[in-house]
Amino acid sequence: MGKEEQFGRQLTAWYAEGHRDLPWRSAPGAYEVWISEIMLQQTRAETVIPYYRRFLALFPDVRALADSDETELLKAWEGLGYYSRARNLRRAAREIEERYGGELPASVAELRRLPGIGDYTAGAIASIAFGVPAPAVDGNFERVWCRYFGIGKVMDPEARKQLARDAEDLVPRDNPGAFANAVMELGATVCLPRSPKCGQCPLAGECSAKAQGDPEALPVKPKKKGQRVELRSQMLVFGRQGVLLCRREERLLQGLFVFPDREGDLTPEQMCEALEEMGVPAAYEEALGPARHVFTHIIWEMRIHAFRALEDVPAPEGALWADAGTLSALPLPSAVRAAKELALTRMSRG
Ligand code: SF4
Repeated sequence: MGKEEQFGRQLTAWYAEGHRDLPWRSAPGAYEVWISEIMLQQTRAETVIPYYRRFLALFPDVRALADSDETELLKAWEGLGYYSRARNLRRAAREIEERYGGELPASVAELRRLPGIGDYTAGAIASIAFGVPAPAVDGNFERVWCRYFGIGKVMDPEARKQLARDAEDLVPRDNPGAFANAVMELGATVCLPRSPKCGQCPLAGECSAKAQGDPEALPVKPKKKGQRVELRSQMLVFGRQGVLLCRREERLLQGLFVFPDREGDLTPEQMCEALEEMGVPAAYEEALGPARHVFTHIIWEMRIHAFRALEDVPAPEGALWADAGTLSALPLPSAVRAAKELALTRMSRG
């Protein structure tokens, strides 16, 4: 048996012996696999579990998701981040309703054409839900593969494409779903990015990286571009009817609610001017503290300030005055969680 074949055989046998009991594995319909795979992007399984359960209770099938209200959908996603994933799920659900009568298609090519589904997710759904021998190449796969075969080249986009092509020959024809799950499981529990547990690994006997003595050195990642730090001033404006929230429409935060904010570390006068321009004259009260949020390419260093609305003005277009209940019920991005807690604390004091 060649090393490639051994890779698949040993992994699936190891997976069959026992693995984590994750809720999406007990009912692996295509819908469940799809939702779980989208949630698992950039997010650990333990974090995903309660979200997954709640999401399935609210939107149990493609139709419920296609018909969902955007605010309710984003609220169900609150805390998971990368909200475009939730919006794409709904867009894809509508396409699945229209084009495929509410059933996810089984082919990688058709899955790939749906919003939010890339090569990895299409491969995972096709192999796990439909038994199609398609590779699902993600960070776990790349790590296990590079280490096992001792591949030391830089994993740039071109090397990744090549890896995806090579992986096609590696998927066992008889059990592609178990293979996809096995790679994920090994990458998440044994072949970890730091301190891999080679002593517990079914591949240890043939693993090149282990034999070379430094598995952590692989895969070789391209150098990361530095994250940009952005200063932001957040304004919590309290009025008779609550705190001012604005609904954002730009791509990243679309449909989410945030407090008025501006780029830069603004003075109280500058912030009062900004609020005046919005049509909400307000008096500066105090600085409530700093907060920090790390996105993939950018870090927000925030300064949070409190204001008191001078008049009983109606909320400007696209904004609303939110009492504590509304503030808790609306979807807000994680980046403003600290500001939300400060607003709730202040409102509870009256
Ligand atoms: S032996 Fe170690 S480095 Fe190699 S695949 Fe297993 S856990 Fe990863």
